[in-house]
Amino acid sequence: MRRIQRFPGQAMLIAIIVSGLPVWAHEPGAHVHGRAALEIAIDGAVAQVNLNSPLDNLLGFEHAPRNEKERQAIKAMASKLNEASSLFVFTPAAQCRLESADLNSPVLSADLLPPASGSGKSADKNSGASEFSPPASSAAVDAHAELDATWQFQCAKPQALQGVDVQLFRMFPGLRRLDVAIAGPKGQSSTKLSPESTRLKW
Ligand SMILES: [Zn+2]
Repeated sequence: MRRIQRFPGQAMLIAIIVSGLPVWAHEPGAHVHGRAALEIAIDGAVAQVNLNSPLDNLLGFEHAPRNEKERQAIKAMASKLNEASSLFVFTPAAQCRLESADLNSPVLSADLLPPASGSGKSADKNSGASEFSPPASSAAVDAHAELDATWQFQCAKPQALQGVDVQLFRMFPGLRRLDVAIAGPKGQSSTKLSPESTRLKW
């Protein structure tokens, strides 16, 4: 006796399982938790670093804060990212100093990602009503989101600059791999970094 009876809930259950699959896992280079992209450009005395990472790697969630605990977690993340001198350790003899840090995420408002230098002046600009960005809609609960960070360093002795030790893994254990693109004095190159391999040379 065959039992081909289908329960009404079965199709729905399958639909939920299928839609829960991480679609982005099939697109290499796209949003994958644990991975992030790092770009380093050396131009004369200026070193510019850009990080594009799923928020999950840095924060453990990818949505606008829903409570005070999440607000605090975002502020803690922002202050770690703003302290970029300890995230990127350039050749000491080159005497590179952090000039600016700029953090952006579509799901986090600007007041949660204050500028690095602690200058209250530029915060006034961001509080203008014309800059209002709508809060993440509750329909986007399962959506993914990323953070984009750009840091600029100024080096007093750029001729001594040979590389950088990337400390992001130590500060953000959710980060497991960095795909790195370097545009340095000797041209362009790409490589990967991991918690076991954090040094870049050019
Ligand atoms: Zn995600």
